[in-house]
Amino acid sequence: MRLSELGDLYSTLLEAAVDGIITIDEAGIITGFNSAAERLFGYRRDEVIGQNVKCLMPEYVARHHDGYLQNYLQGCPARIIGVGREVEGRHKDGSTFPLHLSVGEALHEGHRNFIGICHDLTSYNAVLRQLGEAEERYRDIVESQKQLICRLDSKLRITFANASFSQVVGVQHDALMGIPLTSIADDAEHQLPYLLAQMFRSSDDLGEVNIKVTMKARDSGALVDWSFKRVESGNSEPPELQGFGIDISQQEAAVEQALYLRSHDPVTGFLNKQAYSDALAAWIQPGRRYALLHIDCSQFERITQQYGFESGDLIMAEAARRLRLGLDRANLCGRVTSDDFVVMAPVIDQDEAQSLANQVVLTLEAAYTIHGEQVRLDTTCGIALYPHDTRALDTLLLMASSAAKDARDHGLAYSYFNPEYHEDLRRQMDIEQGLKEAIDTRAIDVHLQPKFDLATGRIHGYEALVRWTHPRQGAISPALFVPIAERSALGQKLDRYVLTRVAELIAESIRQGKPEPVIAVNITAKHFSDTALSDFIRDLLQTYQIPARSLQLEITEGIVMEMRRTTTAIMDDLRQMGIEVSIDDFGTGYSSLSYLQHLMVDELKIDKIFIDDLESERGATLVRAVIAIAKAHDLRVTAEGIETGEQARILAAMKCDLGQGYFFARPAPSDEVLGLNH
Ligand code: C2E
Ligand code: MG
Ligand code: MG
Repeated sequence: MRLSELGDLYSTLLEAAVDGIITIDEAGIITGFNSAAERLFGYRRDEVIGQNVKCLMPEYVARHHDGYLQNYLQGCPARIIGVGREVEGRHKDGSTFPLHLSVGEALHEGHRNFIGICHDLTSYNAVLRQLGEAEERYRDIVESQKQLICRLDSKLRITFANASFSQVVGVQHDALMGIPLTSIADDAEHQLPYLLAQMFRSSDDLGEVNIKVTMKARDSGALVDWSFKRVESGNSEPPELQGFGIDISQQEAAVEQALYLRSHDPVTGFLNKQAYSDALAAWIQPGRRYALLHIDCSQFERITQQYGFESGDLIMAEAARRLRLGLDRANLCGRVTSDDFVVMAPVIDQDEAQSLANQVVLTLEAAYTIHGEQVRLDTTCGIALYPHDTRALDTLLLMASSAAKDARDHGLAYSYFNPEYHEDLRRQMDIEQGLKEAIDTRAIDVHLQPKFDLATGRIHGYEALVRWTHPRQGAISPALFVPIAERSALGQKLDRYVLTRVAELIAESIRQGKPEPVIAVNITAKHFSDTALSDFIRDLLQTYQIPARSLQLEITEGIVMEMRRTTTAIMDDLRQMGIEVSIDDFGTGYSSLSYLQHLMVDELKIDKIFIDDLESERGATLVRAVIAIAKAHDLRVTAEGIETGEQARILAAMKCDLGQGYFFARPAPSDEVLGLNH
């Protein structure tokens, strides 16, 4: 090939090249500029040939270019020649763009020439940037996950861990890289290394492995629920495990706490009532003897009322601490109600049980200090013996509790389980339960006993008296079951029931055109101090459309005594409504007659025991005095329990207003007494 032909070939090749090819001379003057360079820089060839190559550079490079070239020609090391690098080019329109420049040197006819090959990087860089941005986005998503994310290689070494991972285990990201996960994590069965290694070994996809793991690094102790999966990268990279973990420590702690609270009293840390007997069954050893103590700290409620719940809790916690530390033998403690503890401990015989009870009572009764004041718990202790009293643990608990009640009722520090007392208690509980049902099913009847005007012999009104036939125990006197009801919330329930039945009777009498009756209802002590009572009665009058004068309340002298100290607001309320109030069983409550002037009541009912004694000189004098004083205070007087004509005559002569008793009429079913038709 001839030289001229060779020259043509080169120029054709140069023109065909995709990259810009520019030649310059020693002075930096452009001597060649191919078509690709024209497209790249926006200049036509004839515009740049003969110009300094600086016109193709941004100002900050152009400024130094002559200097660089000069230095190179004088022997300084090349910065760009023979080395490709990324630089910025300057377009004719002044804009700059990235390009990859490699420069070669050629000696031609004794002159040094430089050939620059410029590859446009604009779109390449854009792709790189997009890739970078995409990676950044994914990284952000992974890093901001609350979940723990990691990758493990086939040796179970961490190759990736996100921010949550380092945060939960408390180790910096870089320190985590390369360490085996199994060195900072362990599961309860120590299966983690085996299960994870297995995922690499099998050629099949084993799906996911789920495992709860405790992270041990830096005492993190976090419990993490991990799910691992093998991932194949697609190219020649070896497979890895990808793990997603959720920190369930708090969740587990909450579940544990809930379980604890289900079986423990939060104040003392003792087992609660539900959990105690099961725990007891697991705790006792066959063949040994035990004493179960039921300790009733009855003062506790009063302390709480006086000093507040917080102080009450502090005392209970202190009492529990004393029990836990103060006993000289193994024991299992429980708190079965707000003021009752139970303690089971091994004993050889009854004497030892007794000394244990003494120990407990002494420990608990030592003074407690609240707000600088010393308070004491008044404790009684019931003792049941295992297996002497029973082997059934639930029954044993009942027996110890009944023994504690026995002790309290008899003012003793402690008492052993007594089958007779227990039977009484059981009967009482039976009554309580039965009564509740009887009220709910309206199985309690209301009988009425008339009160007669002693001067005219006419009926003045009636007293409502409840009658109940217990399914097992037969007819039970209200004198027996009312006090039982009164001890619980049943008293209020019973009173409301009777009040409602009586309101129905009055309304029905009026509806049937009978004379409007006046009916007195007995109200239990506890209920009378409840302000809701007057609201209940107000609603009742409204609902049944009955006049207030037709309803009276009987309260015992004891309540009246109590009321002097507490509130008379209920009395005021009732009075405003127009409801009359009588004092029942007057004379039995040791109130002095001088109290009468403070009382806002309408009637006194002299108790039967005074009427029984009426025919004696002493009895007559007493009753006469009561009547005189009552009259002086403008109170109506009723004599209860008149059984003979003589008693009725004497009372009438004494100007006693009303009389009630078997002599006149026994209590009888209300419909019969009022002559109501069905
Ligand atoms: P109380 O209110 O003093 O009622 C008078 C009691 O004496 C009634 O007994 C009555 O049947 C009885 N009685 C009346 N006349 C005579 C008589 O001539 N001789 C004798 N031996 N007894 C007579 P009961 O019905 O057994 O009631 C006893 C107590 O139970 C009542 O005494 C009252 O405190 C209470 N009670 C009765 N019903 C109710 C009620 O509905 N609610 C409340 N809270 N207590 C009631
Ligand atoms: Mg009464
Ligand atoms: Mg009475």
